[in-house]
Amino acid sequence: MKYDFAIIGSGIIGLTLAYKLKQKFNNSKILILEKEPNSVSHGSGRNSGVIHSGIYYEPGSLRANLCVAGAKELKEYIKSKKLWINECGKILIPTSDDSNSNLNNLYERGQKNGVSINKIKKDEVEKIEPYVNCQFDYALHIPFTSVADPKEVSKSLIDDLVKLNVEIKYNSKVLKIENNQILTKENNFEADHIFNCAGLFADEIAKNSNLEFRYSFLPFKGKYWKIKNKDFRLHHLIYPIPDLRYPFLGLHSSHNRNGDFYIGPSSTPVFGRASTEKGASPRLSLAMGIWFASANSSSFVRLDRSHSRQGAITLISGFSA
Ligand SMILES: Cc1cc2nc3c(=O)[nH]c(=O)nc-3n(C[C@H](O)[C@H](O)[C@H](O)COP(=O)(O)OP(=O)(O)OC[C@H]3O[C@@H](n4cnc5c(N)ncnc54)[C@H](O)[C@@H]3O)c2cc1C
Repeated sequence: MKYDFAIIGSGIIGLTLAYKLKQKFNNSKILILEKEPNSVSHGSGRNSGVIHSGIYYEPGSLRANLCVAGAKELKEYIKSKKLWINECGKILIPTSDDSNSNLNNLYERGQKNGVSINKIKKDEVEKIEPYVNCQFDYALHIPFTSVADPKEVSKSLIDDLVKLNVEIKYNSKVLKIENNQILTKENNFEADHIFNCAGLFADEIAKNSNLEFRYSFLPFKGKYWKIKNKDFRLHHLIYPIPDLRYPFLGLHSSHNRNGDFYIGPSSTPVFGRASTEKGASPRLSLAMGIWFASANSSSFVRLDRSHSRQGAITLISGFSA
């Protein structure tokens, strides 16, 4: 059978894309090919579930526009389906003089991106979050930021897609694309439009298909520490004001629908893309990752040399985790 649209990967990007395509072209034939037996084996099933508001990104950039619009749509979807959501909001705290000097930049970015963002005084922070010790005069408050349950959202999207006659074929690893054909080990599928939503493996598919060679992944692993004290409770998500030159949000709090609280992540380069898989030795993987990344990636060398302090902190936290 020939499809109108074929999507490689059934993570949150593949599923939401299929959902939007079906809304726009309701008679279209859509196929999703997924190499795993389910949709939540990788990032889309293993994340903190935070619906970010879009304050961090360069105003006018594709990333900012997509994040702001996508976050609103995702929230509307979750509410319309009556899925779990905690509209807790987020507080960003300056953690150093440098970080404090970024507060106004981030405030302006948020406003330019159309996100509701408030500057709040230290006293107010400590009133609404007694466990937070704010060392500077102001912090930022974003009421929009929320936490959802990523597995529940994926399941709901899959149920909707099945009802809309979208075909999802699990255990179907795509090898490459040739013209309008998608090749798996067992079968070939033909589609007018093919979307590569393979997450951490998207570059491999693009390279195997002779389509794009510019992009490659530099995998980082993040670990979270669970807080054992059951009386500990934060009302908001607490993040530092990040240094916008780094691709890291900084050590922050997160929580889930069971009331578990976490602090993290560490952020360390690793050898394998999906080093969460069983059998991988985390320390060996980490050591190999640092070696491999240093030897092979000019972007890692740039990041490492120019930001050695930040690099050292995240590496140490990774080893000690
Ligand atoms: C620890 C952690 C916490 C995070 N927290 C948040 C958060 O709070 N909020 C947030 O917005 N983001 C968060 N993220 C990021 C978020 O999880 C990812 O951006 C998102 O899940 C990416 O979705 P995806 O669909 O692109 O990729 P994936 O979820 O990786 O999906 C890609 C799919 O493609 C499949 N695939 C790969 N290769 C093939 C192939 N050859 N053939 C067929 N199928 C293939 C994979 O099996 C996978 O199912 C977090 C990430 C991590 C690691």
